[in-house]
Amino acid sequence: MRVIKKLAEMQAFADEQRCSKKKIGFVPTMGFLHEGHLSLVDQAKKKCEVVVVSIYVNPTQFALGEDLDRYPRDFKKDLELCEQRGVDIVFAPDNDVMYPSGFETTIHLNKTTSDLEGSSRPSHFDGVATIVTKLFNAVKPHIAFFGQKDFQQSLIVKRLAKNLNFDLKIEVCPIVREKHGLAMSSRNNYLSTGERSAALVLHKAIELAKEMVEQGKIDVAAIEKELNNFVAKEKLAKVEYIALRNRSNLNKIKVLKKGKTVLLLAVRIGKTRLIDNELL
Ligand code: AMP
Repeated sequence: MRVIKKLAEMQAFADEQRCSKKKIGFVPTMGFLHEGHLSLVDQAKKKCEVVVVSIYVNPTQFALGEDLDRYPRDFKKDLELCEQRGVDIVFAPDNDVMYPSGFETTIHLNKTTSDLEGSSRPSHFDGVATIVTKLFNAVKPHIAFFGQKDFQQSLIVKRLAKNLNFDLKIEVCPIVREKHGLAMSSRNNYLSTGERSAALVLHKAIELAKEMVEQGKIDVAAIEKELNNFVAKEKLAKVEYIALRNRSNLNKIKVLKKGKTVLLLAVRIGKTRLIDNELL
Protein backbone atom coordinates (compact mmCIF):
# COMPACT_ATOMS: atom_id res chain seq x y z
CA MET A 1 0.00 0.00 0.00
CA ARG A 2 1.25 3.45 -0.86
CA VAL A 3 0.41 6.73 0.87
CA ILE A 4 0.20 9.72 -1.46
CA LYS A 5 0.08 13.27 -0.13
CA LYS A 6 0.67 15.33 -3.26
CA LEU A 7 -1.89 16.13 -5.93
CA ALA A 8 0.39 15.68 -8.94
CA GLU A 9 1.54 12.29 -7.68
CA MET A 10 -2.06 11.14 -7.18
CA GLN A 11 -3.04 12.29 -10.66
CA ALA A 12 0.02 10.64 -12.24
CA PHE A 13 -0.85 7.36 -10.51
CA ALA A 14 -4.46 7.62 -11.74
CA ASP A 15 -3.27 8.28 -15.31
CA GLU A 16 -1.01 5.21 -15.22
CA GLN A 17 -3.90 3.00 -14.07
CA ARG A 18 -6.21 4.40 -16.73
CA CYS A 19 -3.58 3.88 -19.43
CA SER A 20 -3.25 0.23 -18.41
CA LYS A 21 -7.08 -0.08 -18.52
CA LYS A 22 -7.39 -0.66 -14.78
CA LYS A 23 -10.65 0.37 -13.15
CA ILE A 24 -10.15 2.77 -10.23
CA GLY A 25 -12.53 2.50 -7.26
CA PHE A 26 -12.56 5.43 -4.85
CA VAL A 27 -13.76 5.68 -1.24
CA PRO A 28 -13.63 9.25 0.13
CA THR A 29 -13.52 9.43 3.95
CA MET A 30 -12.61 11.74 6.79
CA GLY A 31 -10.71 8.94 8.51
CA PHE A 32 -11.11 7.38 11.96
CA LEU A 33 -12.17 4.38 9.96
CA HIS A 34 -14.72 1.81 11.07
CA GLU A 35 -16.52 -1.14 9.47
CA GLY A 36 -18.91 1.26 7.69
CA HIS A 37 -16.02 2.80 5.76
CA LEU A 38 -14.40 -0.60 5.27
CA SER A 39 -17.59 -2.05 3.78
CA LEU A 40 -17.21 0.57 1.03
CA VAL A 41 -13.62 -0.60 0.53
CA ASP A 42 -14.80 -4.22 0.24
CA GLN A 43 -17.39 -3.20 -2.35
CA ALA A 44 -14.76 -1.20 -4.27
CA LYS A 45 -12.44 -4.20 -4.27
CA LYS A 46 -15.19 -6.39 -5.72
CA LYS A 47 -15.82 -4.01 -8.59
CA CYS A 48 -12.44 -2.42 -9.35
CA GLU A 49 -8.83 -3.45 -9.90
CA VAL A 50 -7.35 -0.54 -7.95
CA VAL A 51 -8.79 0.93 -4.75
CA VAL A 52 -8.00 4.42 -3.50
CA VAL A 53 -9.18 5.63 -0.07
CA SER A 54 -8.87 9.31 0.74
CA ILE A 55 -8.44 10.40 4.33
CA TYR A 56 -9.03 14.09 4.67
CA VAL A 57 -11.00 16.06 7.26
CA ASN A 58 -12.35 18.76 5.00
CA PRO A 59 -12.56 22.08 6.86
CA THR A 60 -14.98 23.71 4.41
CA GLN A 61 -17.82 21.35 5.26
CA PHE A 62 -17.70 22.30 8.94
CA ALA A 63 -19.37 25.51 10.08
CA LEU A 64 -17.85 27.73 12.76
CA GLY A 65 -18.56 26.21 16.15
CA GLU A 66 -18.88 22.68 14.77
CA ASP A 67 -16.49 19.87 15.71
CA LEU A 68 -13.67 20.39 13.17
CA ASP A 69 -10.97 20.72 15.81
CA ARG A 70 -12.04 17.78 17.91
CA TYR A 71 -13.07 15.51 15.02
CA PRO A 72 -11.47 12.13 15.91
CA ARG A 73 -8.27 11.27 14.07
CA ASP A 74 -6.03 8.19 14.15
CA PHE A 75 -4.03 8.14 10.93
CA LYS A 76 -1.74 5.27 12.00
CA LYS A 77 -4.64 2.95 12.78
CA ASP A 78 -6.45 4.02 9.59
CA LEU A 79 -3.40 2.99 7.56
CA GLU A 80 -3.30 -0.41 9.29
CA LEU A 81 -6.99 -0.99 8.56
CA CYS A 82 -6.59 0.05 4.92
CA GLU A 83 -3.60 -2.22 4.51
CA GLN A 84 -5.46 -5.17 6.06
CA ARG A 85 -8.40 -4.64 3.69
CA GLY A 86 -6.20 -4.53 0.61
CA VAL A 87 -6.38 -0.83 -0.23
CA ASP A 88 -3.82 0.14 -2.89
CA ILE A 89 -3.49 3.87 -2.27
CA VAL A 90 -4.31 6.11 0.66
CA PHE A 91 -4.59 9.68 -0.57
CA ALA A 92 -4.05 11.94 2.44
CA PRO A 93 -3.47 15.51 1.31
CA ASP A 94 -2.72 18.35 3.73
CA ASN A 95 -4.88 21.48 3.82
CA ASP A 96 -2.37 23.47 1.80
CA VAL A 97 -2.60 20.88 -0.98
CA MET A 98 -6.39 21.01 -1.12
CA TYR A 99 -6.80 24.71 -0.37
CA PRO A 100 -3.61 26.53 -1.40
CA SER A 101 -3.48 30.29 -1.21
CA GLY A 102 -5.48 31.78 -4.05
CA PHE A 103 -8.22 29.20 -3.69
CA GLU A 104 -11.53 30.90 -4.42
CA THR A 105 -13.65 28.64 -6.61
CA THR A 106 -16.40 26.65 -4.92
CA ILE A 107 -19.48 24.70 -5.88
CA HIS A 108 -22.81 26.05 -4.73
CA LEU A 109 -25.95 23.94 -4.64
CA ASN A 110 -29.37 25.46 -4.57
CA LYS A 111 -32.44 23.56 -3.45
CA THR A 112 -31.28 20.46 -1.63
CA THR A 113 -28.83 22.37 0.53
CA SER A 114 -31.43 24.36 2.43
CA ASP A 115 -33.39 21.36 3.69
CA LEU A 116 -32.86 18.64 6.36
CA GLU A 117 -29.07 18.50 6.95
CA GLY A 118 -28.79 21.77 5.05
CA SER A 119 -31.17 23.60 7.38
CA SER A 120 -29.09 22.60 10.40
CA ARG A 121 -25.77 23.00 8.56
CA PRO A 122 -26.28 25.72 5.91
CA SER A 123 -22.86 25.69 4.20
CA HIS A 124 -22.21 21.98 4.70
CA PHE A 125 -23.18 20.62 1.28
CA ASP A 126 -21.37 23.35 -0.65
CA GLY A 127 -18.24 22.24 1.22
CA VAL A 128 -18.98 18.58 0.50
CA ALA A 129 -19.65 19.20 -3.21
CA THR A 130 -16.47 21.25 -3.54
CA ILE A 131 -14.19 18.73 -1.86
CA VAL A 132 -15.79 15.76 -3.64
CA THR A 133 -15.19 17.51 -6.97
CA LYS A 134 -11.58 18.22 -6.06
CA LEU A 135 -11.01 14.65 -4.91
CA PHE A 136 -12.58 13.27 -8.10
CA ASN A 137 -10.18 15.42 -10.11
CA ALA A 138 -7.27 14.09 -8.06
CA VAL A 139 -8.17 10.39 -8.02
CA LYS A 140 -9.94 10.16 -11.42
CA PRO A 141 -12.07 7.18 -10.34
CA HIS A 142 -14.31 5.06 -12.54
CA ILE A 143 -16.59 4.33 -9.58
CA ALA A 144 -16.87 6.29 -6.32
CA PHE A 145 -18.43 4.56 -3.31
CA PHE A 146 -20.58 6.42 -0.78
CA GLY A 147 -22.59 5.23 2.23
CA GLN A 148 -26.35 5.36 2.52
CA LYS A 149 -25.63 6.46 6.10
CA ASP A 150 -25.35 10.00 4.70
CA PHE A 151 -28.46 9.64 2.56
CA GLN A 152 -28.90 13.29 1.56
CA GLN A 153 -25.19 13.52 0.76
CA SER A 154 -25.43 10.49 -1.52
CA LEU A 155 -28.27 12.09 -3.49
CA ILE A 156 -26.39 15.36 -3.71
CA VAL A 157 -23.22 13.67 -4.94
CA LYS A 158 -25.19 11.74 -7.57
CA ARG A 159 -26.79 14.98 -8.73
CA LEU A 160 -23.43 16.79 -8.69
CA ALA A 161 -21.91 14.09 -10.93
CA LYS A 162 -24.87 14.25 -13.30
CA ASN A 163 -25.17 18.04 -13.38
CA LEU A 164 -21.46 18.63 -13.97
CA ASN A 165 -20.97 15.72 -16.40
CA PHE A 166 -18.42 13.81 -14.32
CA ASP A 167 -17.35 10.70 -16.19
CA LEU A 168 -17.81 8.24 -13.32
CA LYS A 169 -20.40 6.14 -11.51
CA ILE A 170 -21.60 6.74 -7.97
CA GLU A 171 -22.44 3.64 -6.00
CA VAL A 172 -24.30 3.86 -2.70
CA CYS A 173 -23.72 1.08 -0.15
CA PRO A 174 -25.91 0.00 2.80
CA ILE A 175 -25.56 1.27 6.37
CA VAL A 176 -23.35 -0.83 8.64
CA ARG A 177 -24.62 -0.96 12.21
CA GLU A 178 -23.20 -1.97 15.56
CA LYS A 179 -24.63 -5.06 17.29
CA HIS A 180 -27.61 -3.28 18.89
CA GLY A 181 -28.44 -1.20 15.85
CA LEU A 182 -26.51 2.05 16.27
CA ALA A 183 -25.29 3.15 12.83
CA MET A 184 -21.50 3.18 12.82
CA SER A 185 -20.03 6.67 12.77
CA SER A 186 -16.71 8.26 13.68
CA ARG A 187 -18.75 10.62 15.87
CA ASN A 188 -19.95 7.68 18.04
CA ASN A 189 -16.53 8.09 19.62
CA TYR A 190 -17.86 11.22 21.39
CA LEU A 191 -20.55 9.25 23.24
CA SER A 192 -20.23 8.31 26.91
CA THR A 193 -21.49 4.87 27.97
CA GLY A 194 -24.85 6.33 29.03
CA GLU A 195 -25.15 8.32 25.82
CA ARG A 196 -24.31 5.26 23.76
CA SER A 197 -27.34 3.41 25.10
CA ALA A 198 -29.49 6.55 24.71
CA ALA A 199 -28.32 6.71 21.08
CA LEU A 200 -30.08 3.41 20.39
CA VAL A 201 -33.29 5.45 20.32
CA LEU A 202 -32.58 6.31 16.66
CA HIS A 203 -32.61 2.68 15.62
CA LYS A 204 -35.59 1.95 17.86
CA ALA A 205 -37.48 4.77 16.14
CA ILE A 206 -36.63 3.20 12.79
CA GLU A 207 -37.98 -0.15 14.02
CA LEU A 208 -41.15 1.58 15.22
CA ALA A 209 -41.59 3.23 11.82
CA LYS A 210 -41.22 -0.14 10.12
CA GLU A 211 -43.92 -1.58 12.41
CA MET A 212 -46.22 1.31 11.54
CA VAL A 213 -45.68 0.65 7.85
CA GLU A 214 -46.47 -3.04 8.41
CA GLN A 215 -49.70 -2.00 10.16
CA GLY A 216 -50.64 -0.07 7.04
CA LYS A 217 -50.19 3.44 8.45
CA ILE A 218 -49.63 5.94 5.64
CA ASP A 219 -50.39 9.39 7.10
CA VAL A 220 -46.93 10.99 7.11
CA ALA A 221 -47.75 13.75 9.63
CA ALA A 222 -49.18 11.20 12.09
CA ILE A 223 -46.19 8.86 11.73
CA GLU A 224 -43.71 11.72 12.16
CA LYS A 225 -45.58 12.88 15.27
CA GLU A 226 -45.56 9.42 16.83
CA LEU A 227 -41.82 9.04 16.11
CA ASN A 228 -41.10 12.47 17.60
CA ASN A 229 -43.03 11.55 20.75
CA PHE A 230 -41.19 8.25 20.95
CA VAL A 231 -37.72 9.84 20.72
CA ALA A 232 -38.71 12.63 23.12
CA LYS A 233 -39.16 10.00 25.85
CA GLU A 234 -35.39 9.50 25.83
CA LYS A 235 -34.12 12.19 28.20
CA LEU A 236 -30.69 12.63 26.58
CA ALA A 237 -32.15 12.96 23.07
CA LYS A 238 -33.11 16.17 21.32
CA VAL A 239 -34.69 15.82 17.88
CA GLU A 240 -33.43 18.09 15.08
CA TYR A 241 -35.63 16.47 12.48
CA ILE A 242 -37.53 13.27 11.88
CA ALA A 243 -38.88 13.31 8.35
CA LEU A 244 -40.45 10.99 5.83
CA ARG A 245 -39.61 12.01 2.30
CA ASN A 246 -39.70 10.87 -1.30
CA ARG A 247 -36.52 8.81 -1.49
CA SER A 248 -35.50 9.84 -4.99
CA ASN A 249 -35.59 13.63 -4.54
CA LEU A 250 -36.29 14.22 -0.81
CA ASN A 251 -39.46 16.13 -1.63
CA LYS A 252 -42.03 16.41 1.16
CA ILE A 253 -44.88 13.89 1.02
CA LYS A 254 -48.25 13.60 2.76
CA VAL A 255 -48.82 9.91 2.16
CA LEU A 256 -46.26 7.16 2.66
CA LYS A 257 -45.73 5.05 -0.44
CA LYS A 258 -44.05 1.73 0.29
CA GLY A 259 -40.81 1.34 -1.64
CA LYS A 260 -40.63 5.06 -2.46
CA THR A 261 -40.12 6.62 0.95
CA VAL A 262 -37.12 7.28 3.17
CA LEU A 263 -37.18 8.05 6.88
CA LEU A 264 -34.43 10.49 7.91
CA LEU A 265 -33.46 11.37 11.45
CA ALA A 266 -31.07 13.83 13.04
CA VAL A 267 -30.97 13.66 16.82
CA ARG A 268 -28.63 15.20 19.35
CA ILE A 269 -27.55 12.86 22.13
CA GLY A 270 -26.04 15.22 24.65
CA LYS A 271 -23.69 17.33 22.53
CA THR A 272 -23.28 14.73 19.79
CA ARG A 273 -25.32 15.08 16.62
CA LEU A 274 -26.23 11.72 15.09
CA ILE A 275 -27.99 10.97 11.80
CA ASP A 276 -29.62 7.80 10.56
CA ASN A 277 -32.12 6.74 7.91
CA GLU A 278 -34.05 3.80 6.55
CA LEU A 279 -35.74 3.07 3.26
CA LEU A 280 -39.37 2.25 3.90
P1 AMP B 1 -17.09 10.06 6.66
O1 AMP B 1 -15.72 9.62 7.02
O2 AMP B 1 -18.02 10.16 7.83
O3 AMP B 1 -17.10 11.28 5.78
O4 AMP B 1 -17.70 8.91 5.76
C1 AMP B 1 -17.07 8.48 4.59
C2 AMP B 1 -18.01 7.58 3.82
O5 AMP B 1 -18.35 6.45 4.61
C3 AMP B 1 -19.34 8.27 3.46
O6 AMP B 1 -19.74 7.90 2.15
C4 AMP B 1 -20.29 7.72 4.49
O7 AMP B 1 -21.64 7.73 4.08
C5 AMP B 1 -19.75 6.31 4.66
N1 AMP B 1 -20.18 5.76 5.94
C6 AMP B 1 -20.05 6.33 7.16
N2 AMP B 1 -20.62 5.56 8.11
C7 AMP B 1 -21.12 4.48 7.47
C8 AMP B 1 -21.85 3.33 7.90
N3 AMP B 1 -22.17 3.13 9.18
N4 AMP B 1 -22.21 2.42 6.97
C9 AMP B 1 -21.89 2.61 5.66
N5 AMP B 1 -21.22 3.68 5.19
C10 AMP B 1 -20.84 4.61 6.08
